[in-house]
Amino acid sequence: MNVRTRFAPSPTGFMHMGGVRTALYAYLLAKKYGGQFILRIEDTDQGRLVEGATEVIYQTLKECGLNWDEGPDIGGPCGPYIQSERKQLYLPYAQQLVKSGHAYYCFCTKEELDERRAAAEARGETFKYDKHCLHLSQEEVDRRLADHVPYVIRMNAPTEGETSYHDLVFGDISMPNDTLDDMVLIKADGMPTYNFANVIDDHLMGITHVMRGMEYLSSTPKYNLLYQAFGWEIPQYIHLPTVMRDAQHKLSKRDGDAYYSDFIDKGYLTEALINYLALVGWNPGDDREFFTLDELVDAFDVKGINRAPGIFDVEKLRWFNFEYIRKLPFETYLSKVTPWFDQVLDPARFDYRRLAELMQDRTEIFSEVPDKVRFLSQWPAFDSALFVNKKQKSTLESALVSLRLVEPILEGLSDWAEQPIHDAVMNAIAESGMKNATVLWPMRIALSGQLATPGGAFEIAYLLGREESLRRIRASIETLS
Ligand code: GLU
Repeated sequence: MNVRTRFAPSPTGFMHMGGVRTALYAYLLAKKYGGQFILRIEDTDQGRLVEGATEVIYQTLKECGLNWDEGPDIGGPCGPYIQSERKQLYLPYAQQLVKSGHAYYCFCTKEELDERRAAAEARGETFKYDKHCLHLSQEEVDRRLADHVPYVIRMNAPTEGETSYHDLVFGDISMPNDTLDDMVLIKADGMPTYNFANVIDDHLMGITHVMRGMEYLSSTPKYNLLYQAFGWEIPQYIHLPTVMRDAQHKLSKRDGDAYYSDFIDKGYLTEALINYLALVGWNPGDDREFFTLDELVDAFDVKGINRAPGIFDVEKLRWFNFEYIRKLPFETYLSKVTPWFDQVLDPARFDYRRLAELMQDRTEIFSEVPDKVRFLSQWPAFDSALFVNKKQKSTLESALVSLRLVEPILEGLSDWAEQPIHDAVMNAIAESGMKNATVLWPMRIALSGQLATPGGAFEIAYLLGREESLRRIRASIETLS
């Protein structure tokens, strides 16, 4: 069987992480079986169109390496791949269903429907369209159509029995038919609804496996009734559990963890995101954690998709990101970290290469880099208590002695590089008879003003330069005395 999957986003302007995962799984399944991954833009809700939104989709998928075999920009045998450009194609299918009795014209106005809905709610019932227009005579329908009375086309859902199907993740799903409403297929503006267009397009595009969010689980029986009405083969269904922040909470825009761009802006690597996202809701069946996209293609199996919601654990993602950053080729790291250095440092003053070497295995996410290196250009106001450290055998008194020892050494150094700084200071320490830590601790604190730093006292002195290092050490001596 030639596997054909599709990703069918509505262009909202953002790519939700759950959407990226759906696209990823659909891509993996198609590639695993040497099939095609198709991109289809579902923009039939013209009221919700957002400018530039399709570009966001293209760009995100491309960055993620989820290259489509057929789609709006590259075409293919089943185009066009944008639903609004397929508009003309849906009405004849709906008319075919009207002829066969599976659908009917409905002329009820919004006001009439609102009234009936309110009445139903007052009776404590959930409103379901009451098939009012199904009972219009053929002459009445023809007359209204000739008079251009606005209409929609509704599905004529059965009211007895039940409709069942098999989902590859959720198993057998059954819905009593009396819960199905006569959903609109063609809207008053002539556009198909999602409910109709997804069936027509999945069929015409030869989709064999429909992968989408589990919010569609309960609508799928209605879609299957349409497939049956047309006499078309029903695709395999793979509904995916929601991606959640924790057991109670969805990812949310407000918390800044809903969209792909939220994570990229914070300095996560796409490869780390994709790797982690694959594991949110899918289990490779062994304890492997690191996968390239190609390795995911090999390992992917629908049987490994969990029914339980996928918990998107940002802490775990940070760890993946940290591991991916550590393994970046140095030059790649340098080019990625440079703009983050630039936010707080003057590139003319600092040796970015050396700083990047010190930072690469201390970077979890790039957006935290500026805070970690800011001390180089801005000596923070800090509490002298930082000089006191029991383990390093450093007290306020020993710190003062140590800094007084170091200051003339640094002043007299002819060559300002890490090795000479190291050698000169270590010699002086040896001669003084003090412990290394007793001197190096206050030296690093004086230079940086903070507990945790990339690199030790020598590296920081080198990065700061002689003048700034002496300024900070002298100011610290002053404070301590
Ligand atoms: N356009 C729908 C959405 O964005 C797609 C659902 C589907 O894949 O069928 O939710």
